[in-house]
Order: sequence, then structure tokens, then C-alpha cells
Amino acid sequence: AFDVLIVGGGPAGAAAAIYAARKGIRTGVVAERFGGQVLDTLAIENFVSVKETEGPQFATALEQHVKQYDVDIMDVERATELVPGAKHIEIKLANGATLKSKTIVLATGARWREINVPGEREYRNHGVAYCPHCDGPLFKGKRVAVIGGGNSGVEAAIDLAGIVSHVTLLEFAPDLRADAVLQRKLYSLKNVDVITQAQTTEVQGDGKKVTGLSYKDRKTDEIKHVALEGVFVQIGLVPNTEWLKGTVALSKHGEIEVDAKGQTSVPGVFAAGDVTTVPYKQIVIAVGEGAKAALSAFDHLIRTSID
Ligand code: FAD
Repeated sequence: AFDVLIVGGGPAGAAAAIYAARKGIRTGVVAERFGGQVLDTLAIENFVSVKETEGPQFATALEQHVKQYDVDIMDVERATELVPGAKHIEIKLANGATLKSKTIVLATGARWREINVPGEREYRNHGVAYCPHCDGPLFKGKRVAVIGGGNSGVEAAIDLAGIVSHVTLLEFAPDLRADAVLQRKLYSLKNVDVITQAQTTEVQGDGKKVTGLSYKDRKTDEIKHVALEGVFVQIGLVPNTEWLKGTVALSKHGEIEVDAKGQTSVPGVFAAGDVTTVPYKQIVIAVGEGAKAALSAFDHLIRTSID
């Protein structure tokens, strides 16, 4: 059995593995895809102390750092169930195996909901973006659209309006769903247009990068075009917690509820990174939270186990 078993091999899981292993305790990592979301990222310019790197390079660096330590890495394995227990907590895998550990760190991350229209996948990282904190500055002085009129979409539009030349916000429904205070701020900005009842139908490009998008005006069924250089999709971030329903307490958005130490509702089970209720889904935050969850797991071990 492990002392600490980490589920997830993104920035949070990697940090947890390093911090746990440095305590000299039996540490394992189960990950469907070691590296996590950064594998889908191009430029990373906001990981403090690294001026600029690329996602796959960052993911390799994470893995190499973890491999400096005695960590049992089980890559390309998916956890399907968490079974709490007094002595050991079990993690069941899709391949039928069961792993046992005294403590668990859940770091299964999240995924951005996609609009699923032609051009979205093709131009991902070439104009189609999901994270304004990450990619906003790449569109300095350019025209962008934000898809989604909830809080995250309206916050993104306000944020981007200060960087880019023009923002078109597209919302499918007749009204924006964002908080009134955000809507007031949005409508006060001169370089933002808001279009409601707009169903995005296609992201267009020249084969290399985005050049525009098309949407259907749901009032008239007319297809309209907007020329632009960037599209920020803001229709939700989905935490990877479907497999945890009924075990650890989840928020109404499906995020794992954690306290300031990363403790979940189940004793011995900690969580970190994008999968939790901790706001601002960023690498630097996931790494810090991962380290914290591992230290909390260690603290739990020294207080509860005698062997
Ligand atoms: P993730 O990176 O999501 O990792 C989750 C891990 O859990 C993966 O290994 C996954 O395979 C595994 N997993 C999931 N479910 C299971 C399961 N059931 N069983 C086993 N393993 C499982 N942030 C920045 O700070 N700067 C940027 O420039 C930046 N750019 C981004 C660009 C894009 C396109 C995207 C998508 C995100 C970007 N982010 C950026 C956000 C950043 O990638 C995330 O905040 C960060 O990766 C979160 O780390 P995490 O470890 O919590 O989760």
C-alpha cells in the first residue's frame, strides 16, 4: 500500500508527488495523461520565474522532476472509483486493478467545454483560446470574440477589452446571465459589442490562423460574419469529478470542496488544482495547491499512523 497516492499527473499532481516523495514516504501517481492540460497549451508566459516555455516542454519538465524521486508512476491509467476506508482508501482503475493508500491526493483537473463547431479544434492555439489570463496578451491590439455571456464570459470580455482593440461578446440566449454589476461594467466599455441570440456556427481561418467567425442570428435565422483574429470560448470549465459522485463533497459546479489545507469531506483524502473549489485555474496556483495537499497528507499520516 502507498502512504500517498495521487490521482492526476498535471501540475498539481506533479507538485504533490515531489513534496510527498521528499518526505521519504511511499508515493504513487496514477494519471490518464501525465502532463495534463499543459500538453494542449502552446505558449506559457506566466509561470513565475520561467519567462516563456511551451506546454509539451513544460509537461516533460514536470515528469523529469517527478522522476528524480522514488515515485511509482502509473501513466495511461484511469481511476474509476474511490472507496473510503478506516485503514486504507482504495482507488479502483479502469483496467480492473485496485490500489490502496493511507492518504489520497485528488488532482484530476478540469476541461474547457467546447462549442463543437467546425474550425474550433483546427484553430485551437492558433486563434481559438479558452483562458484570458493565459492568452489575452497574445491578442494585444487585435479583434476578438468571447463566446458565452455568463460570469466567466463577461469577466473575460471586460479583461480583454483593456488589451485588445475590439471585443464582440456572443450569447446564445436572449439575455446575459452574468451578475448585474459585471453587465453594467461591460456595457460601459466603448470597444465592446454584445450580440445576444447568437449561435456560433463556425470559426474561420486561412489554414494557419483564425480570420473570423460565423453565427446564426436566432431571431431571423440569418448567418452573419465577424472578421477577427481571436475567439475565446467561455462556456464553462468542467471538473473531472464524474467518478467521485457520492464520495467526496462536491460544489454545485462539481468541484471538490476543500478547506485551506486541501482537506476534502473524507478524512485522509485531499485535493488540489483545477478540480477543486479554489478559484483562478492557473498552473502556478495548481502547483502551489498540489504542494499544500501533499504536506497536509503528510501531516495527516504523522498524526494517524503508527507503522
Ligand atoms: P490538469 O492539468 O487538468 O491535470 C489533470 C490530470 O489528471 C491529468 O494528468 C489527467 O490525465 C488526469 N486525470 C483526469 N481524470 C483522471 C482519472 N479519472 N484517472 C486518472 N487520471 C485522471 N495556465 C497557466 O497558468 N498559464 C497558461 O498559459 C495556460 N494556458 C492554458 C492553455 C490551454 C489551452 C488550457 C486548456 C489551459 C491553460 N492553462 C494555463 C490552465 C492550466 O493548464 C491549468 O490550470 C493546470 O493544468 C491545472 O493543473 P491540474 O494539475 O489541476 O489539472
